[in-house]
Amino acid sequence: MKVRFWGTRGSIATPGPDTIHFGGNTSCVEVTTNSGAHLILDCGTGARRLAGDLMSRDEKPISVNILVGHTHWDHIQGFPFFSPLFVPGNSVAIYGPEGGRRSLHDVLAGQMEFTYFPVELNQLPAAITYNDLSEGIQTIGGLRIAAQYLNHPAMTLGYRLEGDGVVIVYLVDHEPFSDRLWRADAEPGHIASILHDGDRRHANFMAGADLVIHDAQYTPEEYPAKKTWGHSTYDYAVRMSAAAGVRRLALTHHDPDHNDHFVAEIEDRARTLATQCGTGLDVFCAYEGCELLVEPVKVLTPFVAPASGQPNVLHQRFRVLVVDDQPDMLALIERALQDEEYIVTTASNGPEALRMIASQIPDLVVLDYKMAGMDGMAVTTALRSTPETKSLPVLMLTTKTDEPSTRAGFAAGVTDYVTKPFSFPQLASRVRACLNRHGSP
Ligand SMILES: [Zn+2]
Ligand SMILES: [Zn+2]
Repeated sequence: MKVRFWGTRGSIATPGPDTIHFGGNTSCVEVTTNSGAHLILDCGTGARRLAGDLMSRDEKPISVNILVGHTHWDHIQGFPFFSPLFVPGNSVAIYGPEGGRRSLHDVLAGQMEFTYFPVELNQLPAAITYNDLSEGIQTIGGLRIAAQYLNHPAMTLGYRLEGDGVVIVYLVDHEPFSDRLWRADAEPGHIASILHDGDRRHANFMAGADLVIHDAQYTPEEYPAKKTWGHSTYDYAVRMSAAAGVRRLALTHHDPDHNDHFVAEIEDRARTLATQCGTGLDVFCAYEGCELLVEPVKVLTPFVAPASGQPNVLHQRFRVLVVDDQPDMLALIERALQDEEYIVTTASNGPEALRMIASQIPDLVVLDYKMAGMDGMAVTTALRSTPETKSLPVLMLTTKTDEPSTRAGFAAGVTDYVTKPFSFPQLASRVRACLNRHGSP
């Protein structure tokens, strides 16, 4: 399988003399299978030059699959400039996460309204299909492709491509689920030693990959000021990849404020760290024009998706109960979730929440940890000891980011554990991921 990077910048295109080596175009990676199928991962501004290259090749008509991780600008701004779309006879299949409120088609059409662009989406002459994805496994371009949610303030999917005897995993726009990566009572560096369930799921998703392309927008020094923005440090990407037995790691989504010199320093630091991890992980910072041939060196390990209650629940109106004893916070969360078109009810303490759940079981409970009287942990324990609510998804909100609290939360049976401060878009996407995985039909 062949991989070529056409855009490695995060957030906004950053052309100029300071970014000549690593490149200024936003996210776009071309994957070509041994049988010649084209898959394009993200459609940032890098997609314009890729489009020109595709048009100059002998292959006519052009048939491509575009997999968009999410629809923030830096991942779709190249789409209106993707020239194969303007040629009748070409076919383009687009895949991306369903966002809850609007379909992939409507979001892409939105950025091409006449106010923003001279040609509207439905005027494009190529045959275009739109495929809203949730978590799960599909066959696209002859490859087995698994999709799994990332932690980002928008519904965002990571993709694991399996085929030609190799595994390539694309994980861009993702933030660690927890400040602490390892449990204190376990040896660091192993998937089983990861503290937060979300980070463990993320590591399992990249397990045994020949190439992982991972968000590494920040240094560990920069990260605290950028928390909840939905991006990783190189440190997290390296440690996770090493634990997951990854062969090669490409760091990407470079910060617009990082010039070539700074990114090269990140590469040095990442390599030193990878050497310390001692697993033989090869790490580099992806640059525009970088081309790799990924060839098999071992038997491919197919991804086995974790069991989930309801894999496909698109466009369903879910009922969410929010429990918090702080009226301001309760109102803000209620509003944020109503904007996502959930049916939201609220309770201001634990006993009231349990009474409401007993009379009607919601699809998910958003529960504050620290409440006067009965706290969130006691509510979770009560829910888990009742047969009807044993598997009701519970998303716990907490300021307690220390390891014992996180472990106690998961041990009590919380489904996800979101630490404060969080952003409301981030909370909304964690709620959605939880419902898509575990929501009742
Ligand atoms: Zn991005
Ligand atoms: Zn984003």
